[in-house]
Amino acid sequence: MGNELRKEMKIAIDQLEVRAKLEGRRIVKAKGVKNIFIGEAYKDIKLNLKISSVLACEMTFSKKYEKSSPSSVLELIYACRGLNNTIEQLQRFQLSNLMSYPIDVIDYVDTLEQELSFAKGRTYERRSSSTKNSIPFCALCWKRTFSSDYYCKDHHSTRNHAIHKQAKNQLFTAIKTLCDDESTLEKYDYYQKGYLKGGRLAHNLYSWTASFAPNIQIPIVSHTLSDNPFDKTIASTIQTVKKIYPITASKLAPTLENKTVSDLKVWIIKIIDTLDSTEATVWAYKDVELWLKKSSEQELLSTLLNVLRRYEAFKTIQSATSTSGPTKGKNANVELRESIQRLAKQQREQTGKVNQSEIARKLDLSRQRISMLMKELEGKA
Ligand SMILES: [Zn+2]
Repeated sequence: MGNELRKEMKIAIDQLEVRAKLEGRRIVKAKGVKNIFIGEAYKDIKLNLKISSVLACEMTFSKKYEKSSPSSVLELIYACRGLNNTIEQLQRFQLSNLMSYPIDVIDYVDTLEQELSFAKGRTYERRSSSTKNSIPFCALCWKRTFSSDYYCKDHHSTRNHAIHKQAKNQLFTAIKTLCDDESTLEKYDYYQKGYLKGGRLAHNLYSWTASFAPNIQIPIVSHTLSDNPFDKTIASTIQTVKKIYPITASKLAPTLENKTVSDLKVWIIKIIDTLDSTEATVWAYKDVELWLKKSSEQELLSTLLNVLRRYEAFKTIQSATSTSGPTKGKNANVELRESIQRLAKQQREQTGKVNQSEIARKLDLSRQRISMLMKELEGKA
């Protein structure tokens, strides 16, 4: 059932592309006069009636389709109010109903979602924005991105705006109270002045989040011929995790005790499941070919370490309160501030004025950052 649909949908989108080329028009995601709406490719592709009525029960349709379920793929797009919403709703359906419907239903919905996502990649808007790089994990936590280039389902910037904003503010609280990394503080100043927005902001949020826990490298272990080198690598990695990521290790305690791992993929899902069971479902089913099946053991392990690092960082960020030592981060850099004052004093004595660019060079910081710190120091004086 799904295979037939896949074939039909592929042919339809190819034909629409040929037509667009001949007419000199673009394929777009929204209906308009000048361009061709992508949905037109699917106006003759019939939906399986049984599945259409299942979707009508589980998904949110526009008024018109509440009573009579959509009969074609085009009507389904209308019922969901657009291509993006259709893909999003189909993904949500799969995640929440994996166990409740027979495999052929899930399969069919999966095909629909995949083919529509593929078609979306061929629309004009998509191509023009392909320069923005999506990120693998949510910019604000440790979960996989979902229906967004930058955020997980919980932190989706439009769907869960309030939670998104709250998580962002929590990260900022952590930066203000716990962070002493100058380059993070500098970028944060840029953000506050309104220079960082959209994708660039998301990329910064992503690395700011990670900066709250150190990186762990996969250890290189020596081994004898008789033992399996990978078992030793796992055992050694677990030891490091326990030492470096205490919050994560205590949450994972029983799962980490198992030192011989017979199936790394199963083990990884089990670990994620201990952290959050919904997230484990995402791991077990979303882009599983790419994330789990086609990866080497080394790649899998480093992906897992990345998740654990982000989990530790996320929990650390969550624990920050605006009173956890006011300006602790700033105090931590007393030394830097003293260096600036010392260099400025030297310059004043030698030349009668302060050369901020030179101070920046000597301390390996940007001139803007020095300027900001000097203003702060003058304010205190
Ligand atoms: Zn998130």
